[in-house]
Amino acid sequence: MEPIDRRGFLFAAGAATATLASAPASAQTHNAGAIFLSTWDFGVEANRRAGEIYAGGGSLLDAVEKGINLVEDDPNVTSVGYGGLPNSEGEVELDAGIMDGATHRAGSVCNLHKIKNPISVARLVMEKTRHTTMAGDGALRFAIEMGFTPQQLLTPKSLEEWLRWRNASKHETFWIDARNHDTIGMLGVDGRGGVVAGCSTSGLACKIPGRVADSPLVGCGYYADAAGAAAATGNGDVMANYCTSVFIVRRIAQGAHPQEACDDLMRLMARSAPNLRDDMYCVIAIDRHGEIGAASMNSKQPLQYALWRNEGGTLHTAPALLG
Ligand code: ASP
Repeated sequence: MEPIDRRGFLFAAGAATATLASAPASAQTHNAGAIFLSTWDFGVEANRRAGEIYAGGGSLLDAVEKGINLVEDDPNVTSVGYGGLPNSEGEVELDAGIMDGATHRAGSVCNLHKIKNPISVARLVMEKTRHTTMAGDGALRFAIEMGFTPQQLLTPKSLEEWLRWRNASKHETFWIDARNHDTIGMLGVDGRGGVVAGCSTSGLACKIPGRVADSPLVGCGYYADAAGAAAATGNGDVMANYCTSVFIVRRIAQGAHPQEACDDLMRLMARSAPNLRDDMYCVIAIDRHGEIGAASMNSKQPLQYALWRNEGGTLHTAPALLG
């Protein structure tokens, strides 16, 4: 496990007592290559792939892109890329974003159909255009022009899930309710000034077509600058309203440890809207030295995060604000 101490603190002027991780007692020097930090258990393999790409001479951007591609290509991950659960009309609609902290450039795509690797399209938006965000049909046409081949992204499993939802006599919808989701967020630093953040998701299963939440919005689902990087996963309709990733990275730039910065964000959200305490809100963060942080709102919906350091990978559970 990461050397994270736990401490109690008083939440919202004594309204509740909660536990979060504090910063490791002393900052370590990490000089054994790049460090990658990713959301969820699928982040373990994604980090390993990123580590391989980097060790093989790839750039940090290559590593993060290819690491995320691995999850996008996996039909068994039903919240990202190929096999992602579709929107309410049965169409897989993907969002992704990537940011190079060293140049402060970002690229993202929203509501991208038929292309299984939106993170790669997002990177091309960043590198080949003067735009930052492209959406819908225009994003698809751009991807085709860049050489991507449109394909069916529904797998037998995701189609079956969607049909079960659609045929249920009384199903939840996003006019009122929420359903399955998760995002691969990946952060990388190389100890030489390189800082990259990326994320990719199919968003909420059975979402209303056209919905855009935090993931592809720079500063919300992902953000990187010279100080560090952050990414978010969870209920992105709400998290976007807190500009979570830029909030965290700005706190790091002001001198906060990444763990403290993640904790601050969770506290801010819970204080501003007590009804948020029961839903899933999670973040990860890294500073340019490789110090990390991660947090979830509550322990009933814990965040697992994967860390790649010293060429080895580990899986952890993030500390929760509320028990
Ligand atoms: N934040 C993503 C979204 O709302 C989903 C997730 O990460 O769980 O689209």
